[in-house]
Amino acid sequence: CGIVAYVGPKDAAPILLEGLQRLEYRGYDSAGVVVSNKGLRMRKVKGRVADLAAVVPARFKGGLGIGHTRWATHGAPSDINAHPHLSGDERIAVVHNGIIENADELRAKLEADGAIFLSETDTEVLSHLIARTVKEADSLEEAVRTALKRVVGTYGIAVIDSERPGEVVVARNGSPIVLGIGEKEMFAASDVAALVRYTRQVVHLEDGEIAVLRADGFNTFASDARETAKETLTVDWEA
Ligand code: GLU
Repeated sequence: CGIVAYVGPKDAAPILLEGLQRLEYRGYDSAGVVVSNKGLRMRKVKGRVADLAAVVPARFKGGLGIGHTRWATHGAPSDINAHPHLSGDERIAVVHNGIIENADELRAKLEADGAIFLSETDTEVLSHLIARTVKEADSLEEAVRTALKRVVGTYGIAVIDSERPGEVVVARNGSPIVLGIGEKEMFAASDVAALVRYTRQVVHLEDGEIAVLRADGFNTFASDARETAKETLTVDWEA
């Protein structure tokens, strides 16, 4: 339902929680965040963003993270089915809006390859898939692109890799993702409402595009890996 991502010099967790609060008007049943700081640290709960904020410890430091509010489509609302979803080795974390239509088929193949699923969601196939493609890839962006070639369905996603603590990768197909450009920091969200407190400079992703966000900027790529040129828009909005 709602996605927020941050990379920069500040602690990500409070920014993610604030952004998720701004997406509450869309409705949701659970919420979660993960930050990267010498490994991934995650909290997720069935309930409100305030319930999540109550269980995110002050020691969740680190300037890279992603957050989500979930509107369940596959698997009941529960702490475990809430996003983010991790890979078995806890290296990769994914949040996802939309529906993976071939999730059952992908899950069966991944389980045959040794993946152990914790949730009932369609989303969890993405973390296990990317954990496999990342081992062969030169970049997280390439790993995500390769994994998404096997996916049928709609998605806006944000992905982090504990071994690449300086970048977030986002992608979209049928579910919106907007990038927010800050001062030596970058944001992404499913809805500009989550960003306007922090920046008015935004870039909309197109279906099929993937973006890599770092504190000092971003790059966008088409599904054939060619870099795309994007227009920055200034949002006129009362925060
Ligand atoms: N299909 C995913 C799930 O059920 C994502 C739902 C959403 O867009 O929040 O977990």
